[in-house]
Amino acid sequence: MQFIDLAAQYQHLKTKIDKRIQTVLDHGNYIMGPEVQELEHELAKYVGVKHAVTCANGTDALTLAMMVLNIEKGDAVFCPTFTFFATAEVIAYEGATPVFVDSDEETFNICPVDLEKQIKTTIAEGKLNPKAIIAVDLFGLPANYLEIEKIAERYNLKLVEDAAQGFGGSINGKKACSFGDIATTSFFPAKPLGCYGDGGAIFTNNDEYAELLKSYRVHGKGNDKYDNVRIGMNSRLDTIQAAILLEKLAEFPTELVNRNKAAANYEKSLAGKYKTPQVPEGYTSSWAQYTIVSERRDEEMARYKEHGIPTMIYYGTCMHQQTAFIDTQCRPEGFPVAERLAKSVFSLPMHGYL
Ligand SMILES: *Cc1c(COP(=O)(O)O)cnc(C)c1O
Repeated sequence: MQFIDLAAQYQHLKTKIDKRIQTVLDHGNYIMGPEVQELEHELAKYVGVKHAVTCANGTDALTLAMMVLNIEKGDAVFCPTFTFFATAEVIAYEGATPVFVDSDEETFNICPVDLEKQIKTTIAEGKLNPKAIIAVDLFGLPANYLEIEKIAERYNLKLVEDAAQGFGGSINGKKACSFGDIATTSFFPAKPLGCYGDGGAIFTNNDEYAELLKSYRVHGKGNDKYDNVRIGMNSRLDTIQAAILLEKLAEFPTELVNRNKAAANYEKSLAGKYKTPQVPEGYTSSWAQYTIVSERRDEEMARYKEHGIPTMIYYGTCMHQQTAFIDTQCRPEGFPVAERLAKSVFSLPMHGYL
């Protein structure tokens, strides 16, 4: 049994995907070919935003968002400590300071109460310029944007939705990748919507941001092909990956139904034995991971292994515990919820063909 069965998905979509790849091989437009524009159109339509701009991976998507928002040295950007490294990495990469926030016990997502506390402390200290929040849709469940958007407005902060794991989720019918000023996702093969290599996308309703993103992703290009007007990067989605994603996106709604069925089956069998993931009223998850909590994690994972069921730990180390962030100043009381989760969570197999 596979933790994520990409081979089963390929077998299901083989004819369509092979045909799409062959089309790219035939026309030969490997960089920014017609499939890239087609995919951006379909992604924007699916999410319900004005602009989808593809790029090379989910980390670049976040970096491009940081560039558009002018995140720089001296800025504080608030993000959860219980997340994948890239969320915090991109903040430090711009020379800004990540200010970590504890998690919500029930959803594992950034805790709005602690977020406001950290913002107030940062303002009171007066050393950093509070500039933005990156909220993460951890394990496929959208963060609490109803509260977070209010906080962002109250303190005049930009809001970025890191939906690398969140593509396909929703709150009251509003889709993930449509929250905040800019949202980002990843098409890493193991994410809910994955390609056959690296890929990513940025979503926004802001026309000015969209123009900037398209410039930054191709060396800061201007209107004249030979005049670069700003310092950018090289971060494009390959045409072949776009072609593959077009077929996977068409199948995605069906896979999402299957993921939800798998999650419901897990809940039926495991509730009471473990703390199982709960989806708040009005929310839907894309179930990037099915993550449960056990005080006897090592023992439990060994038992699953005996039965041929692979399990994984996402995440065993919080951001404030990472060696790379050892010099980042954190409050002395630590992050009790996130630290407890890092010691007790593990994830079960989850994909659309379980
Ligand atoms: C995977 C992931 C990223 C980075 O995506 P890549 O495509 O691997 O660069 C960023 N944030 C979160 C929360 C992720 O899970």
